[in-house]
Amino acid sequence: MASIFTKIINGEIPSYKIAEDTKFYAFLDINPNAKGHTLVIPKKEENKIFDLSKEEYIELMNFSYRIAKALEKTIPCERIGMSVIGLEVPHVHVHLIPINKMADMQFVNKEKLTNEEFLNLAENIAGNFE
Ligand code: AMP
Repeated sequence: MASIFTKIINGEIPSYKIAEDTKFYAFLDINPNAKGHTLVIPKKEENKIFDLSKEEYIELMNFSYRIAKALEKTIPCERIGMSVIGLEVPHVHVHLIPINKMADMQFVNKEKLTNEEFLNLAENIAGNFE
């Protein structure tokens, strides 16, 4: 069965899209640790990050780097944290999180955003994506 993220890529489930190319897709996490919390996924559905080939892994990191740069330009923060977990959704995803303190990486304190805030954030980050 297709993962929830494959359904997002296929447009069957809505997302706050930031950017995509032929192989990767980036969108806002719906339950963010902080404003701008973004997920970067390969379009090819794979469960675990280290099951990707070395080439796919490096390409995923290259795409994530470009997203992180756009986040740095858009969201005032101390730095961009990066994490890979995958216990909830078995489709490789890199969490990129604008952080100011260690707790922002702990997936406990969640930021509540309105639909309009999500839309504005995605649009602003996308505008800084190169
Ligand atoms: P994990 O698999 O533990 O790395 O976490 C999965 C992440 O995906 C969580 O941070 C969720 O908030 C996020 N998530 C789950 N469903 C969606 C969705 N439909 N749109 C955006 N983010 C999602």
